[in-house]
Amino acid sequence: MVITGNGKGKTTAAFGLALRAAGHGLRVIVIQFMKGSPNYGEYLAAREHLSGLVSVEQYGRAEFVDKGNPLQVDVDHAHRGLARAREVLADGAFDLVVLDEINVAMDFGLLSWSEVEGLLAGRNAAVDVLLTGRYAPGALVQMADQVSEILDIKHHFADGIPAREGIEY
Ligand code: ATP
Ligand code: MG
Repeated sequence: MVITGNGKGKTTAAFGLALRAAGHGLRVIVIQFMKGSPNYGEYLAAREHLSGLVSVEQYGRAEFVDKGNPLQVDVDHAHRGLARAREVLADGAFDLVVLDEINVAMDFGLLSWSEVEGLLAGRNAAVDVLLTGRYAPGALVQMADQVSEILDIKHHFADGIPAREGIEY
């Protein structure tokens, strides 16, 4: 499954799916690329209130990655996330694996499509996987069973409304 597009709601939709799956006793892990801050409500909720149901692991820095010129540490974090994803997709320890912002990690050049393609090829067929983030590569869209694109019709950021706790993070 893929959730892409420029509108707001990709990561929050992924956590909605995680909650739904957990409600049925499925074991869920969310592996977040390019994120490295505990100050996200979804991270806090999982850690404080959903432990044992939804695991969240972050593989990134708290700061923004420079698209044209990523740091080596950004590439390294993304590859640690990739290695962890490879492990959980192969071993079946989780029923649902969410790879949050992995599409952006590819778009920024931290990971290549062929690395992600290999990751998906190596998965245990019983494991569901959801990849989120803008700019999903065409080959991923082709391969996926389900693709949703969130359209940006309007966002309050354009009106100068700053990121709000509980809504943006
Ligand atoms: P969310 O995490 O709220 O579900 P998202 O995962 O769809 O959003 P990303 O592209 O990952 O969005 O960007 C994350 C942050 O950018 C969020 O704080 C979100 O509110 C903000 N954002 C998303 N879409 C837009 C947009 N079209 N214009 C401005 N800011 C946006
Ligand atoms: Mg997101």
